[in-house]
Amino acid sequence: MSRTVFVNGEYVAEEQAHISVFDRGFLFADAVYEVTAVLNRKLVDFTQHMERLDRSLSELAMAQPVSTDELRAIHHELIARNDVDEGLIYLQISRGAADRDFAFPDEDTEPTLVLFTQVRAVADTPAARTGIRVITVPDKRWGRRDIKTVQLLYPSLAKMEAKRAGADDAWMVDEQGITEGTSNNAYIVLADGRIITRQLSHDILPGITRRSVLRCVNDMQLTLEERAFSLDEARSATEAFFTSATGFVMPVVEIDGHTIGHGKPGPITNRLREIYIQDARDNAE
Ligand code: PMP
Repeated sequence: MSRTVFVNGEYVAEEQAHISVFDRGFLFADAVYEVTAVLNRKLVDFTQHMERLDRSLSELAMAQPVSTDELRAIHHELIARNDVDEGLIYLQISRGAADRDFAFPDEDTEPTLVLFTQVRAVADTPAARTGIRVITVPDKRWGRRDIKTVQLLYPSLAKMEAKRAGADDAWMVDEQGITEGTSNNAYIVLADGRIITRQLSHDILPGITRRSVLRCVNDMQLTLEERAFSLDEARSATEAFFTSATGFVMPVVEIDGHTIGHGKPGPITNRLREIYIQDARDNAE
């Protein structure tokens, strides 16, 4: 069945949706995005995703074409029109279409706003039951990974390298240790129960799920350390997991072919996933 998507103020069938070949998102990756999970036809952590969107836009001096309230209404309209019970909504804003030039176009250039839905299971998935396998690769991305741009070629190459190696995803590594996954934040759990995740900086994306899950960690009175951790420390961990808007809390059971813990999702990871998803359902809007 054809989806209804949203393009620059209009709801159209996906086959009828068009963007200019001069769009700067297409030519320069001059665009930012957000992905919000849908559970029971409601939006998970929506307000926080829109706050990050505003930040990404302002870091790139890009205009916000519509208000958060309008964006909320568009999200709900797409859920209704596409009958999305569970899945995700993708939103992208580019600086708009203008003659190709590295310099930004005139301020009156209209930004391009696109949203579309994807129906799929997110709460109960085989990967969450078995855990996933990751490889590590050098982090070769640019220096402002805190801005959620559509510049995703390197993470895409890393994901393909993981697939070729028979794994599910790649965790990226810089001089200080593991930064994050191709599209998720990375965590390890040590034998004494401490949870370690990289501190926020320009080196990683400030995950919205990360923020919510760290609140759960605090509520559960678990010990958290926001700091860099090495590949060696990760290999000796008893549990590992990642967080993202559509993966929620996802167990990682193998790193570079090395089994983590007993090779099954660990108890702390499972508990965090359960509590986060319950919270997400309770607070979805
Ligand atoms: N890091 C990167 C590089 C990502 O692409 C994502 C997901 N877009 C995340 C972390 C997780 O962020 P969130 O929890 O907001 O989905």
